[in-house]
Amino acid sequence: MSDPVLTVRDLRVTYGTRRGPVHAVRNVSLAIPAARIFGLVGESGSGKSTVAQAVMGALGPPARVQGEVRYRGDDLLGLPPRELRRLWGRRLALVSQDPASTLNPVLTVGEQLVEVLRAHERLRAREARRRMHELFAAVQLPHPADLARRYPHQLSGGQQQRVSIAIALACDPDVLVLDEPTTGLDVTTEARILDLVESLRERSHAAILYISHNLAVIRRLCDLVAVMYAGQVVEQGPASRVFAQPRHPYTVALLDCLPRVDAPPASRLLPAIEGAQPDPAGEVRACQFAPRCGLAVERCHREPPGWFAADGGHGSRCFYADRVPPPAARERQESPVAPDRPRRGRPLLEVDGLVHHYRASAGVGGGARVVRALDGVSLGVAVGETLAVVGESGAGKTTFGRAVVGLLRPSGGQIRLEGTPVPRRLRAWPRALRRRLQIVFQNPDLTLNPRRTILDAVARPLVLFGLANRRSRRADAARWLAAVGLGERYLDVYPAQISGGQRQRVAIARAFAGRPDLVVCDEPTSALDVSVQATVLNLLTELKARQGASYLFVSHDLSV
Ligand code: SF4
Repeated sequence: MSDPVLTVRDLRVTYGTRRGPVHAVRNVSLAIPAARIFGLVGESGSGKSTVAQAVMGALGPPARVQGEVRYRGDDLLGLPPRELRRLWGRRLALVSQDPASTLNPVLTVGEQLVEVLRAHERLRAREARRRMHELFAAVQLPHPADLARRYPHQLSGGQQQRVSIAIALACDPDVLVLDEPTTGLDVTTEARILDLVESLRERSHAAILYISHNLAVIRRLCDLVAVMYAGQVVEQGPASRVFAQPRHPYTVALLDCLPRVDAPPASRLLPAIEGAQPDPAGEVRACQFAPRCGLAVERCHREPPGWFAADGGHGSRCFYADRVPPPAARERQESPVAPDRPRRGRPLLEVDGLVHHYRASAGVGGGARVVRALDGVSLGVAVGETLAVVGESGAGKTTFGRAVVGLLRPSGGQIRLEGTPVPRRLRAWPRALRRRLQIVFQNPDLTLNPRRTILDAVARPLVLFGLANRRSRRADAARWLAAVGLGERYLDVYPAQISGGQRQRVAIARAFAGRPDLVVCDEPTSALDVSVQATVLNLLTELKARQGASYLFVSHDLSV
């Protein structure tokens, strides 16, 4: 392999807080040669994005950054801000998870790219426009000339992300950092972006740092990989070795959490990683993974493991790296629910020729066009059955789910629940009907009021539907929290005080508290880490077994 373009040595990032120092990144080292993709993978909160920002030299106070980040010979951490700005965009480029937050909402996307080309490459206006069209075509954006005249809000999430990548590539950077660039995108758009990143490696020979919580993406794309846990790299090496023969129990657990397309539906629970990452405050006095590790022995709880190197640049931070079992060796738990049989039960939900058309702006100077979001969709769900609605974004899945629970008024067709027509207007729904149809959104923040406690959120359907009174609501809400694996102490906290995975559990508890007959699950795990995803999928399987509810499961992920 050629000399590394980017070298990180002993990187430490600490934040001073009132509780004392919080160690976001501890002693991370990595090296990326030209034309190689280095994957950094781990759960949220493991420190991966902090590494990305430190690599870009973008962390300032209150963060304290120590160690070395070398781009060719230069230590980026020691460069004055002016020198650093000269490298940004030209030699080092970053694509973040949320393109909407990096694109300027008041400039067309074409103007934004032209501005970068003129500022950094000193191109004349006409030459910059020609190059802009080339770059938009290179990232496979359709009709570049038309698209360049649009504002960011007029593009889909996938198109915005491709514009961000085009801007990052404008000056042919030597180092490209991609921080979760496909999270929340559908599989087809994700596949296009991954193809694009692969072609960049061939074409531009950039050293690419690809950050993701998605092991499947890292496995497909990367030459080298590091697994992060609680601010530390716990395993690192060539991707082929790490995935074929992992040497850390955490890597194995992450691989086991991945749902498989060929697994029998709902027959077995996924092996979730119970517990949470340790508090990043304080010194490391034991193996950080010990409380969640099935191989832990007494030594692991009193002594932090060092780095154990194996062959071919592969190594891990585990005393017992040689004894780590291969993935899928852990027993999958039997589910309390029998797998769905092809035999159909009594019909619960029947949808006939559902239509939803609306008018939308066609872009700058384009007038209005009719969007046919749903065009005659018909299907049925039997009692106790799970029906998956799968498709890429823009296919109408979410629109369909929302129409079923009355959040959207369809323009045609009919929905029946146990043979009784469901009124198109939500206002005409009797209270009993509202109880019977519930939804779990992709983003739990759509369900939870930030000013209301978790108790208020879970108790509201209980009181509204007459399932609890003022006096019993606390005890009943606590029972529902227990059903989703959260203790009573969460009742009095606010949504912002708990993690995204915990908020999703609360949203599930709230949806089930009214004892619904059908729950629409709209991508409930697509923004979650694989370990949290496994926990939420197991929870849905268990609740279905206990409650006998039916699911309409909307997802872009076939394996889920
Ligand atoms: S050192 Fe011990 S606790 Fe840590 S990963 Fe290895 S076996 Fe598990």
